[in-house]
Amino acid sequence: MIQEIQDKPGQQRGLAICVSGPSGVGKGTIIRSVLARRPSIRHSVSITTRRPRPGEKNGIDYYFVDHPTFERMIADDEILEHDCYCDQYYGTPRKPLAEAIGSGLDVILDITVPGSLSIMQKIPECVTIFLLPPSFSELENRLLKRGTETDDIVRKRLEKARHEVTMADRFQYLVVNDDLAETAQRILAIIDAEHCRYPYQAGIEQVVLAR
Ligand code: ADP
Ligand code: 5GP
Repeated sequence: MIQEIQDKPGQQRGLAICVSGPSGVGKGTIIRSVLARRPSIRHSVSITTRRPRPGEKNGIDYYFVDHPTFERMIADDEILEHDCYCDQYYGTPRKPLAEAIGSGLDVILDITVPGSLSIMQKIPECVTIFLLPPSFSELENRLLKRGTETDDIVRKRLEKARHEVTMADRFQYLVVNDDLAETAQRILAIIDAEHCRYPYQAGIEQVVLAR
């Protein structure tokens, strides 16, 4: 992946920011809030075989495709990473991500834990954030309140959540999503801090010395 990112001269690369966490923890809600506060950040629109929820739009929330199309896209190497989650495929389109990062734009990915682990291999400088619910009962409340899945799928997602939380130690940052505004602010603070890290700023001291 790294070789595919075409850096523009004099332009710092954007960050790939992976946000993982159990279903219902609030990843989508937090990402929408972060994007509303910082419109320069992009969302990596994933491809999925699951059906759209009411209100979800093709090309904005996801690219909704059927199984043969998804498998054709994998075969054609159009997908950077993919995972099968609760019997549905989810994947990150390769080209838009490489283009955005190369143009200096930060991109947020809403992605499963194995998806984040795969991005860590492919984009080693990525930023990884794991969102935790304040409690498991609150996670269940949120999933039930959202009301977008059948009881059977809610149960499957909650079962998966217990294992996902045990993988939190693979991430650089852990954030408990209790208050929505505070969580969005914390994610922005992480992004701002990452932009100040030495590897990202490397060479800037030489520019300052030359002024
Ligand atoms: P995910 O994308 O992680 O599956 P969603 O963003 O769809 O989760 O959020 C699940 C539900 O929880 C939604 O109904 C959302 O409005 C609600 N929610 C998200 N964050 C919070 C929060 N901080 N406090 C209370 N409810 C929240
Ligand atoms: P949902 O069906 O709730 O929108 O998403 C289910 C799970 O798929 C969530 O954990 C979400 O983060 C994950 N997901 C969404 N897009 C991608 C993707 O492109 N790749 C991977 N690996 N997971 C994704």
